[in-house]
Amino acid sequence: MAPYFTSSENHRKSQTRMNQKKQTPGQKKNSFEQAFLAQTTAKGIRKHLLTWYDKFQRDLPWRKNTEPYPVWVSEVMLQQTRVNTVVPYFERFMTAFPCIEHLACADSQQVLKLWEGLGYYARARNLHKASRIVVSEYEGVIPHEYQAFRKLPGVGEYISNAVLSIAFDQALAAVDANVKRVLARLLCMDEPVNISASQAVYQKAADALLSHRFPGAFNQAMMELGALVCTPASPACPDCPLSCQCRAFAADKTRQLPVRMAKKQIPSCHIAAGIVQKGNRMLITRRNPKGLLGGLWEFPGGKVKKGESASAACLREIFEETGIRAENCSFLTRICHAYTHFRIEMDVFVCRYVSGRVCLNGPIDYQWVTKEQLPEFPFPKANLKFMHMILDSK
Ligand code: SF4
Repeated sequence: MAPYFTSSENHRKSQTRMNQKKQTPGQKKNSFEQAFLAQTTAKGIRKHLLTWYDKFQRDLPWRKNTEPYPVWVSEVMLQQTRVNTVVPYFERFMTAFPCIEHLACADSQQVLKLWEGLGYYARARNLHKASRIVVSEYEGVIPHEYQAFRKLPGVGEYISNAVLSIAFDQALAAVDANVKRVLARLLCMDEPVNISASQAVYQKAADALLSHRFPGAFNQAMMELGALVCTPASPACPDCPLSCQCRAFAADKTRQLPVRMAKKQIPSCHIAAGIVQKGNRMLITRRNPKGLLGGLWEFPGGKVKKGESASAACLREIFEETGIRAENCSFLTRICHAYTHFRIEMDVFVCRYVSGRVCLNGPIDYQWVTKEQLPEFPFPKANLKFMHMILDSK
């Protein structure tokens, strides 16, 4: 089924095609009628959705006002992350950095520490960089001009449209995974929602449907509907404000939509990491700020080679990364963790420092720390999964 809404260009093309075909009266609605129906339907959708949102929206800390800074922080945190996970992070972040100047002045370690466990750390690094640009180039005022805002680090189409619509009432449709799912069902769109090639199609549909009077509320309402009612596994259609307009509901296709392309199996990687003890201190290293988990601290380690034991890999990696010799590798635990494109199984060992001065190859910094100091440093989630075993040890 074609989407209800077409751009004026597509509309003209379809009109021409229709004019070329011979139509029997009443067989097909004429284009004026179709456009009228589409607009009526769009109006109905906007009205029902906004009324529902007004009544049922969740009370979330970033909805207390529409100041651009908290809106921006929340939207960055919410990318690929659930609302319930974000709430405590957002509150801690806003307490530590209540305005953009505070964030700009902060140390990158402090920013990463507040982001610890939230994942996708490039978001935090980019937000931090962007805050410094806003302060140095825009006197601390977040630019509301599309091109200027879009140029800031980490600001893509979704973030720009979400922030500018919510904070500045600009008519820009924000399309995230929730919105795509709602659109796919509402308009019976069968373009796979998880491939970038279909992003433009969903953006176009969202642009056509957007309320120009209340763009911020409309965008949030679409996302809220996707999160609360039009959920992935079991959409609550009888409770949905759009059930009368929903094509998938009418066609009993809500379970078939949205279409998703089968994902490739993600590779798995065997890692060994070592807690190297020297007296009451242990060695931690800091990852290069560029790349995966950039700027975070971790216990040294790396990939286990084919045919190598995990304990041997642990000692070899410690030596290769830090130049120090360790021994007495005793197994502590195995943890599993999934990233977006791969998963790891990490064998963690406790070992004893033997000799050598730290000479880094890969990491950009190191510290010998006591267990009491560990919570001061931002670590990746995989390390946090066994951190309690160190902190609880005597
Ligand atoms: S009627 Fe059902 S499938 Fe359609 S938008 Fe509402 S919840 Fe989603």
